[in-house]
Amino acid sequence: MKKITADHVFPVSSDPIPQGVVIVDDQGKVLSLGRRDEHDPASLEHHRGAIVPGFVNAHCHLELSHMKGVAPTGTGLLPFLRTVVNYRDVSQEKILAAIERADREMYDAGIVAVGDISNKADTAATKRDSKLRYYTFVEMFDFLSDARAQATFDGYFEVFGLHPGDGFHRKSCVPHAPYTVSPKLFRHINQANETHASSVPSYSPMTISIHNQETVHEDAFFMDKTGDFNTFYQSFNIPVGHFEPTGRPSIYYALENMDPQHRTLFVHNTMTRPEEIRAAQEWSRGTCYWATCPNANLYIENRLPVYRHFIETQAKVCIGTDSLTSNWQLSVLEEMKTIARYQSYIGFETLLRWATLNGAEALGFEQDLGSIEPGKTPGLNLLDLGEDLTFKPDTRVRRIV
Ligand SMILES: [Zn+2]
Repeated sequence: MKKITADHVFPVSSDPIPQGVVIVDDQGKVLSLGRRDEHDPASLEHHRGAIVPGFVNAHCHLELSHMKGVAPTGTGLLPFLRTVVNYRDVSQEKILAAIERADREMYDAGIVAVGDISNKADTAATKRDSKLRYYTFVEMFDFLSDARAQATFDGYFEVFGLHPGDGFHRKSCVPHAPYTVSPKLFRHINQANETHASSVPSYSPMTISIHNQETVHEDAFFMDKTGDFNTFYQSFNIPVGHFEPTGRPSIYYALENMDPQHRTLFVHNTMTRPEEIRAAQEWSRGTCYWATCPNANLYIENRLPVYRHFIETQAKVCIGTDSLTSNWQLSVLEEMKTIARYQSYIGFETLLRWATLNGAEALGFEQDLGSIEPGKTPGLNLLDLGEDLTFKPDTRVRRIV
């Protein structure tokens, strides 16, 4: 048993405690919370700074870790994707080593759980041995081609079988984005998740992630089939002549084709406006989550979501790092600092909730992670904040449990 105290304790699920004490057992399970003056000072482990729960990284692509620094910054999503797709000259050995390093980097950055997009099974072995908890989203896309849906699904379903996800870790089948998934593939995905969820009751509710409204061209393609997606698909010889624009932003196509009984995790949402957030909230009966990856948005598109839209609609925002292909590091703390730098009207406690409890809920790990509450094993991070409890440019995180 350990009694740990710092200048501030932020449980997230309850009010901050100045000079708080957290008592944990040898496995890191929280036994109780209290104040310093209730304890013999000699029995306490003292720290300067703020104790917060372990961070949850709601969106990552661990398998893309080997492409750090490959894509230039600020080009926009479609040129970025073209660079990534065309980059092939790398050995499996290097790919696996980069995955191992990235898993370790996240652990050192105070991350305790990850929502990880996988198109392949390269990360499966690392995940099995990891101290982090993974929710693997096996991601599928058929480039809107119904004819390819079955074969596409079958291929990815094999990948699904290779990932861990029946206990400590979790997994589901997910669509990549509205602009790459046909209605038929959506149906295959829904059916697979239904079967998986009903096979063991504790798998439910599942979480299904989808990339959403990351670039202005995505909505343009769905509204009236304009914008750069036309030339993007042309450059890969992918026929989209059959695609009928829906006349509405892309998210409505996702809502029509996804299953609202699961938790839904919309990722990026750079272009998403309040009416679309409300439509998704109504559709999901409040069980949708909004992952933001600000550093990746700056890396790729040089823009950020308007967070005010999400605060005004009481949307449940969580934080992701995206992959090392579109980021300088994998650190939820660095994402929080970026948001605090560019939209400083958002307070520290709001950001902390996004970085912890909201992410844990989005991944279905909230029984164990996300807040400092008796019975949970959330991990404890120490932050060196500024005097007024805001981030300093050099604020760091240290894992203490
Ligand atoms: Zn992504």
